Amino acid sequence: MPDQTCSKCGAAMEPGESRELAGEEVCEDCFLDGVSITKTCDPWAVHTAKSLKDLPGGHALTPLQQKLYDLVQERGEVPILEAAAHLGLNEEKLRQEFAPLRHMEKLRACKKDDVIHLTLF
Ligand SMILES: [Zn+2]
Repeated sequence: MPDQTCSKCGAAMEPGESRELAGEEVCEDCFLDGVSITKTCDPWAVHTAKSLKDLPGGHALTPLQQKLYDLVQERGEVPILEAAAHLGLNEEKLRQEFAPLRHMEKLRACKKDDVIHLTLF
């Protein structure tokens, strides 16, 4: 009976050395690779030098969030659909980008003449 092999890279694994990743038995290296790939999908884990510089002590923004924030900062008040169009997003996607900014207390939404506007917090 040969040792188990990693289902990603085919490396032989000692019994008990395998890790489970998305239902597959993989070696430690592939497991760590897989985990770090998952992490880059997390907007909170994305740090860029620029946003860290602009936001001392704060969370880093994704490029889209930064663009949204810059737009609102420049215009003061932006109807949500206009902001979505500006970023090339639909309203649902824009709301996803907006949510963390609201959590960070950078932007908030207000209703004006039945239209939702984004404004600085
Ligand atoms: Zn492997």
